[in-house]
Amino acid sequence: MKVLVPVKRVVDYNVKVRVKSDQTGVDIANVKMSMNPFDEIAIEEATRLKEKGVATELVAISCGPLACQETLRTAMAIGADRSILVQTEVELQPLAVAKLLKSIAEKELPDLIILGKQAIDDDANQTGQMLAALLSWPQATFASKVEVADGFATVTREVDGGLETIKIKLPAIITTDLRLNEPRYVTLPNIMKAKKKQLDIVTPESLGVDPTPRLATLKVTDPPARSAGIKVPDVAALIDKLKNEAKVV
Ligand code: AMP
Repeated sequence: MKVLVPVKRVVDYNVKVRVKSDQTGVDIANVKMSMNPFDEIAIEEATRLKEKGVATELVAISCGPLACQETLRTAMAIGADRSILVQTEVELQPLAVAKLLKSIAEKELPDLIILGKQAIDDDANQTGQMLAALLSWPQATFASKVEVADGFATVTREVDGGLETIKIKLPAIITTDLRLNEPRYVTLPNIMKAKKKQLDIVTPESLGVDPTPRLATLKVTDPPARSAGIKVPDVAALIDKLKNEAKVV
């Protein structure tokens, strides 16, 4: 069974991003970049499927500039056997990524594609769903437990107020939620091994996809600054403020 895992290079989750002065986006010059955390969970899950003998080949894919090779090397250090970079300098939106992944899926013929539920930079939460639609494959999003057997995946999903378990036929799309697993630490020997693994570079043109953005960002702004707190003398004053000022009780 072949598994594809798309991994996105994003601003590291520890970085406090700064909005550019012209409000066109956030400043990513000289900022630490890492693999999207949900994609690390996806690679970990696929690696566990391989370790259990369920998956036989694991291919990581990243779409973006040459620097995404670093993210792919990390994916291979965790467990991917080889990887593909779709190299482009164009700003990629979810529909373009979904089309690129569809084109690769049609060549690679995987049984399963495991994506993150969302990329923490744009918070789109769209690529997996769009890819499932483009391929006409079943999808199980926000997975917190995955079991694969006999051509089906049984997936527990985190939904509002509880858990839902569904069974979908392979080939299928799964997107990972936070509680699916805890990714392993990448060890130095595995980083060294990953350097020798195969990394192919293709372009959107070679995949027959036009990645030009369809949506324009009008502006990006900081959230409103938090106003300072106040001290109240007693509980009665607190209740009064909650009732009459904040109007929350
Ligand atoms: P999004 O829909 O942008 O929130 O992203 C959801 C998931 O799609 C991510 O967690 C990745 O698995 C995948 N993805 C999005 N953008 C890319 C990209 N440029 N390269 C590889 N995978 C991506």
